[in-house]
Amino acid sequence: LKDDRESMMIVSAFAQKYFTRYVWEENEGRTIGLSYLRERGLQDHIIKKFELGYCPDGKDIFTQAAQKQGYKMEYLEKTGLTIKRDDWVRDRFAGRVMFPIHNVAGRVAAFGGRTLKSDKNIAKYLNSPESEIYHKSRVLYGIFQAKREITKQDKCYLVEGYTDVLAFHQAGIENVVASSGTALTPDQIRLIKRFSPNITIIYDGDDAGIKASLRGIDLVLEEGMNVKVLLLPKGEDPDSFSRSMSSTQLQEYIEENQTDFIRFKTKLLLANTENDPVSKARLISNIVRSISVVPDAITRSLYIKECSNLMDVGEDILYTEIRKMMRQES
Ligand code: ATP
Ligand code: MN
Ligand code: MN
Ligand code: MN
Repeated sequence: LKDDRESMMIVSAFAQKYFTRYVWEENEGRTIGLSYLRERGLQDHIIKKFELGYCPDGKDIFTQAAQKQGYKMEYLEKTGLTIKRDDWVRDRFAGRVMFPIHNVAGRVAAFGGRTLKSDKNIAKYLNSPESEIYHKSRVLYGIFQAKREITKQDKCYLVEGYTDVLAFHQAGIENVVASSGTALTPDQIRLIKRFSPNITIIYDGDDAGIKASLRGIDLVLEEGMNVKVLLLPKGEDPDSFSRSMSSTQLQEYIEENQTDFIRFKTKLLLANTENDPVSKARLISNIVRSISVVPDAITRSLYIKECSNLMDVGEDILYTEIRKMMRQES
């Protein structure tokens, strides 16, 4: 329902303003939330630009404030800001630092909330639930703040987390969005495609990040877009990594170390296998499978040329393999 959606957007906008006011103006917000963000190295202008905030730590302080302002429980519940059962009511995000998630038009559709506790039993990040205004699989964190620069640079950086997006902005790189921990979807890729067909994936330098990059590569290729990958040093994510250098150094590092997907796969998979013919064949067939999902024939032929050079196999053999795979798929 259109009216429902509008009411949910309105209550989300109120929540964002409430959390933001709290982090700047209330004692608890400043000493806990704002100090945390500053200690992470975030500058005030970035905290403001992304409208970060803090949800007071209590049972239902936010919910009560919202109701007092006339916001209905129905929409507080539908947006997931409030959790209500028969005999109790509580704030979903109590005691968390708040990252509003804007839709592409710039309206707040949802939130991510980070706990400040290091208790392993508490989820580090909590997200708003799926709702009529928030479809996780269709939203990218930072798209509103990035879209103009994605168009301008004709390129989009794709990272994992909220703080990775913020760190890049702080380093002057504004064409960046995050998939926010969820597995990347075709809808998210298409959202980027509205602004540019060129994506560079910069996921965390751990096994999960590498796995997700490999999956991301094929998704981007399937949409007929171009994909590069930057593998960060082990244990680093874009946020931690960018903090150890100047903006210029970071930009140079990215330019010099991003590789196209064939080189990325080759480097990665060759490192894990001895250079025997069997594993080389397996690697080739893995790369050929990625090439086979590219919709455009000319682009495919360029990739085949590159694969042929890198792996030292004839193009004719690669074509035969690709034809086999494409037959299997259709
Ligand atoms: P931080 O630097 O604050 O520790 P991060 O962004 O580096 O956080 P990761 O563990 O690398 O955190 O996760 C990447 C992203 O995945 C997060 O930004 C968040 O969007 C999402 N995420 C992580 N943990 C959870 C969780 N427990 N529940 C839901 N989403 C999560
Ligand atoms: Mn990670
Ligand atoms: Mn991370
Ligand atoms: Mn991190």
